[in-house]
Amino acid sequence: MMSDKGYYGQYGGSYIPEILFSSQQQIQQAFDEARQDPDFLQALHHEWQTYSGRPTPVTHCQRLSDKLGGAQIYLKREDLNHSGAHKMNNVIGQGLLVKRMGKRRVIAETGAGQHGVATALVAARLGLECTVYMGAKDVARQYPNVFWMRQLGATVVPVTTGSQTLKDALDEALRDWSASYEDSHYLIGTACGCAPFPEMVSFFQSVIGQESRTQMPVLAGQLPDKVYACVGGGSNACGMFLPFVDDQNVELVGVEAGGKSHAPGEHSIRLSDGLGSFGIAQGYATQFLQDENGQLSETHSIAAGLDYVGVSPILAHLAEEGRVTMTYAQDDAVIEAARMLMMHEGIIPALESSHALAAAIADAPMLDKDTHLLVTLSGRGDKDIFNMATAIRDDAFPTFLQEFCQNYAQTEEGEV
Ligand SMILES: *Cc1c(COP(=O)(O)O)cnc(C)c1O
Repeated sequence: MMSDKGYYGQYGGSYIPEILFSSQQQIQQAFDEARQDPDFLQALHHEWQTYSGRPTPVTHCQRLSDKLGGAQIYLKREDLNHSGAHKMNNVIGQGLLVKRMGKRRVIAETGAGQHGVATALVAARLGLECTVYMGAKDVARQYPNVFWMRQLGATVVPVTTGSQTLKDALDEALRDWSASYEDSHYLIGTACGCAPFPEMVSFFQSVIGQESRTQMPVLAGQLPDKVYACVGGGSNACGMFLPFVDDQNVELVGVEAGGKSHAPGEHSIRLSDGLGSFGIAQGYATQFLQDENGQLSETHSIAAGLDYVGVSPILAHLAEEGRVTMTYAQDDAVIEAARMLMMHEGIIPALESSHALAAAIADAPMLDKDTHLLVTLSGRGDKDIFNMATAIRDDAFPTFLQEFCQNYAQTEEGEV
């Protein structure tokens, strides 16, 4: 998707402190050159293949489809990437760009820790220094990820200001970048933030949709009729959708976190049901969840990766244009979808991805058997064991583990 000077309709842009302007221009220029440089693209594909395991397969879910009695469900298996999610596609891409720009250090911010771990992995592989900002509360709640980041050589900085969660970590990362931009790159983990991040992250994630576009005709004899992806910041959705945007017969469905209810603080629905509104924050313009005074709202999702107050300007625009249909799945439907996939296909999905799956599962029975639905399985669910056990109230879980689960399940801040 080509932006118009960083804008997609009224969304996007670059609202950053003056001091970061030259650094932002440098990233823009490096990216514009790199995306057209065959040597860079070859190195990128080589790293995707030999380090992350691409291409990922598409899997036909025969038993699940039969059970639902309607459309055929297929999964694009981003869970089979190194570290278990699509995040790796972007971190490898930006990591190579950092080397190309001659910088020696990366900064990241993380909520639940998934993006922090992916960044620490790639930094270690490419020989870059890595500092990860994380709210002090998240450090306590997500300690296993903190442990691994440190083992990988990253410096994890607990942020003790404000609510001690993702928002505050984001402020600290920006502060660091403002002081260190000459040798450091701020590695944003989703298709949000100032230009060119939405464009760049979507470019690196578009490998998901590009592979799917060639895999579906081989496996199903046609392009998919409908494509689903969950929407946190929007990177896996942009990556899957953008290569299909010009295929007018392919319907694109983005699925947000419906949480527990539509009450403020109980969901992360920004683009469906008119719950979000136009705003400028965190370096860009999009539909944010906010109150009348423009204060960003609290959000909730059972999946940490979808628990975010903003959304990609690219998706906000495509939704406004009517090219992407937005919907949401609520926590209980998400758990049910995850269980159905486990029982019928032997795949343990991430709770984020289970939102996309839940929407496809709701649609499938109403469609006929030669309709083909492709769901982006953005990640694997091993990380969700404690949230899942709490949600289904598994009494067989030993008591000490149950207490641990309760702590874990209280994660209220999301992943960016
Ligand atoms: C982080 C994450 C997401 C949400 O991020 P997007 O930028 O919206 O793709 C979705 N699924 C998984 C498995 C994640 O780890």
